[in-house]
Amino acid sequence: MTCYDLHSHSIASDGALSPEDLIARAIAQGVDVLALTDHDGTEGLVAAQLAAQNTDLTLIPGVEISVTWAGGTVHILGLNVDANNATLQQGLMKMRMFRIERANKMAERLEKAGIAGALDGARKYSSDVMLGRLHFAQFLVEQGHAKNISDVFKRFLVRNKPGYVAGEWANLTDAVSWITAAGGQAVIAHPARYKMTATKLRRLITDFKEAGGVGFEVVSGRQHPEEVKNLARLAEQFELLASCGSDFHTPDNAWVELGNLAEFPKSCVPIWSTW
Ligand code: AMP
Ligand code: MN
Ligand code: MN
Ligand code: MN
Repeated sequence: MTCYDLHSHSIASDGALSPEDLIARAIAQGVDVLALTDHDGTEGLVAAQLAAQNTDLTLIPGVEISVTWAGGTVHILGLNVDANNATLQQGLMKMRMFRIERANKMAERLEKAGIAGALDGARKYSSDVMLGRLHFAQFLVEQGHAKNISDVFKRFLVRNKPGYVAGEWANLTDAVSWITAAGGQAVIAHPARYKMTATKLRRLITDFKEAGGVGFEVVSGRQHPEEVKNLARLAEQFELLASCGSDFHTPDNAWVELGNLAEFPKSCVPIWSTW
């Protein structure tokens, strides 16, 4: 059976592996079709495409766009996007500028909380393309301010904590329209991770469909089987195409591995059936 993993990260965002190493690892893990979906940028795709050439792996060019919806953050994947599309790139450019501003403010806030050098410290973990909270988290762990990554997120990098900076990501309609303009399919990433009430999640899906979104990530890395069932039912009810992806970031997290996913629900229409 073909193994699809349609959600992963490289050093072009907050992943640990270069696009080349990511492709090699995906092949070693038995993935047949891999989507590289870095946060708010497509800089890793050229190298990934080159690395996938002359292998049995099919690379799906993708992106994961940060969206502010109903006062919270949700992630929208774009699958099979044309990375050369100007509408998409203009949209992503604004997000990169916001990330730079945000990183500066995060460092200032941390400095006020007595933690100096966070900007340079975080940069050491990034490839200069994009600076995100995970890079700051790595610096804070290195400096002994927290025992591990999930501890850092609880104590420093979320609302009401010293390293948190509020701000607006893309709006849902724009993000979906950039993806669609670039010939891609928009997919709601890891729907269970937002901890929304059922009513709110339905509202998100309704807004997303209205904007032209077509997909729902029913299977995600490290997910409870009950959750998969629940998401599969929602995909059916709302006639969304179902996607699956590990959201792999790093070999250091033993819980999330490329291609290592729960069984795809038989009741769902796979998004790749439209390819
Ligand atoms: P950003 O887009 O820069 O705000 O950072 C979001 C990223 O931080 C996510 O894509 C994850 O990679 C990472 N992240 C967020 N929360 C956690 C957490 N609790 N544990 C580990 N990584 C997290
Ligand atoms: Mn990430
Ligand atoms: Mn995400
Ligand atoms: Mn992701």
